[in-house]
Amino acid sequence: MLDIQVRFSLPIAYQNAFVSLHDREHKVDFHLKEGTHVAQSEYVDLGVVDRVEGRRLLGKFSFEYTYEPDRHVVTVNGTDFDSARSMCLTTVPEGTSEFCRQRVTGGGFVADDLTSNPRWNYVTPLTPGLRDVFKGIVRTVNDRVIEALQEQPHLIVQVRKHPPEMSAEEHQKFLTVYRDGQFQGLHQAGRQYGPGEQVFTVDSVFGGEVTLNYGEAFANVIGSTNDPKIAGLTWIQLWANQFNTYPVICTSYQSNGFGCGNSLVGGHVIAGQHASVVAQGSNSVWIFPICVQHNNNDNVYMQALKYLKGIWLHNYMG
Ligand SMILES: [Zn+2]
Repeated sequence: MLDIQVRFSLPIAYQNAFVSLHDREHKVDFHLKEGTHVAQSEYVDLGVVDRVEGRRLLGKFSFEYTYEPDRHVVTVNGTDFDSARSMCLTTVPEGTSEFCRQRVTGGGFVADDLTSNPRWNYVTPLTPGLRDVFKGIVRTVNDRVIEALQEQPHLIVQVRKHPPEMSAEEHQKFLTVYRDGQFQGLHQAGRQYGPGEQVFTVDSVFGGEVTLNYGEAFANVIGSTNDPKIAGLTWIQLWANQFNTYPVICTSYQSNGFGCGNSLVGGHVIAGQHASVVAQGSNSVWIFPICVQHNNNDNVYMQALKYLKGIWLHNYMG
């Protein structure tokens, strides 16, 4: 069981003839257990809905996560991740079943999530700006959940994100072809492909970001040179795009006295001290900038020293 607590408050109290919300600080607890589940907080008291018989307005938070205690990995959705499984703030006037659901991106299905109730509906001119207030809260709580998880000792945090924006030309570099589940090579414009061949886009392998603890051990994926993108520059560019900085040093620079070089690649790595093949469909491969010498040496392990954040690939190699 992994227990975390986050705090939030409204930026300012909100008051009009329809609803009054206070700006006191709230504590929200989540308990994460092994597997994939939806974490649900208790309800917190947000204020009073004057127009619904003066009932208390209650709110609770929920989000889907995957917790793998044996690997020390937790996976949650990022704050900009458009998904029904991302953090949601459900509000309801106490004692009614008029639920409104506010999601991190403000997306969702407005007619289902926000406006289907006869009375509790904050997407009307009666509550100007209130939807933005709730959107701000649910985003804040999600950010703080991620921070709280990252502060847990010995926990690796994977955060689902959308792939970085790319031009059509950049996107084209990440198209790969598989035949019957076997990697065939980079997609070549103009080449004819057979019926058993599938083209995968970066969206199908990009999981998001991973944050490691300082000094955390990781090792090469054996055989990943079959993945031509490891040849380096394409993947390192993806890392640079994701973190808005171009890496200038090996992530594991001189760890255990290793002689690092100056040429860097986007290395495909896994947690732990042992280089290993990774089964197709694995959910546990990351890209970190490492030097060519480290990338070519499967007999040493590496450590997160210079960079703690990497790209997380799901469903590696198809
Ligand atoms: Zn190195």
